[in-house]
Amino acid sequence: MFIIFDLDDTLIDTSACITPVKLEKALHCMVEEGLELNNFDRALELLLRLDKKSESAKSALEEFIEINDFDPKFLPGALHEVYSSFSEETPVFPVEDAVEVLSILSYDHKMAIVSVGKMELQMWKLKKAGIDSSLFCKILVLEERNKKKSYEALIQELNLVPSDVIVCGDRIPIDLLPAKQLGCKTIHMKKGRGLHSIGGEREVDFTITGLSQISKVLADLSKNQSFN
Ligand SMILES: [Mg+2]
Repeated sequence: MFIIFDLDDTLIDTSACITPVKLEKALHCMVEEGLELNNFDRALELLLRLDKKSESAKSALEEFIEINDFDPKFLPGALHEVYSSFSEETPVFPVEDAVEVLSILSYDHKMAIVSVGKMELQMWKLKKAGIDSSLFCKILVLEERNKKKSYEALIQELNLVPSDVIVCGDRIPIDLLPAKQLGCKTIHMKKGRGLHSIGGEREVDFTITGLSQISKVLADLSKNQSFN
């Protein structure tokens, strides 16, 4: 099989380890730019609570500004802090078992990453999480959230049969539905943002809550394929 992974909340535990630190920095950044808060800790608590239910840190920040009736001029600086800046102290961890599972999968399968974000930051996160980037034959980082074109391009470029391609990600509408439309198999990683990823649940072929469960999915798939 050819396996395409999403990165954040699929291979890297982004929502648990990186996002809270980034959002705190974003709030500090807004305060430095003149945002007046009565109580920083309480404001941070609200922002983190909003983030837990949001589909992205960006929408959490937007909602935070909106419900507090703050000036939207504070948003760009906050977004820059979350998406474009990185410092060595930022904790970046792989999801549980990721390093071992990827290494084992690499013996029998070809793998790629298709992620949304900034190339430099995503590569830095991979390295910091201890995930060996040479395990992947392609790492694509897209500026916009449209993954369908990239999946299509990968399939063409590498001459793949869509039914032999399996896409694993946490966000159903962004990571999985476009893959499904192309005829690929899909695995929903129910973790981080994926816990609240709504819409299209019935379209997904498999659901896992940890990366170690992927080997069983692959074994089931190859069993079914040999029967067909
Ligand atoms: Mg993700």
